[in-house]
Amino acid sequence: MSAIDNWRAGVRTEAEFRARVAELEAKLAAPIPMILHCPECSERHIDEGEFATRVHATHACQHCGTCWRPAIEPTVGVWFLPGLKNTGDPPRVPPG
Ligand SMILES: [Zn+2]
Ligand SMILES: [Zn+2]
Repeated sequence: MSAIDNWRAGVRTEAEFRARVAELEAKLAAPIPMILHCPECSERHIDEGEFATRVHATHACQHCGTCWRPAIEPTVGVWFLPGLKNTGDPPRVPPG
């Protein structure tokens, strides 16, 4: 059975189909986690608190005010890329 057959097997009703589509849309809308640095001052850019959940493609440096777009797709500045082992507690910086 291929992945698509498995996917189809789980979609028997319209409600199930809508739930699956909503699931995929949420995945597509999710920002890409990235290690971000300001192109002007090289300050680390971390999206924390509400900025971690508010999807944005253009980031504003909290150090010098520069706005830049690291990718076409929405991105989120993170301390560590998902799947990589965290080492120690990250320092605190203002969100943005
Ligand atoms: Zn940001
Ligand atoms: Zn900056």
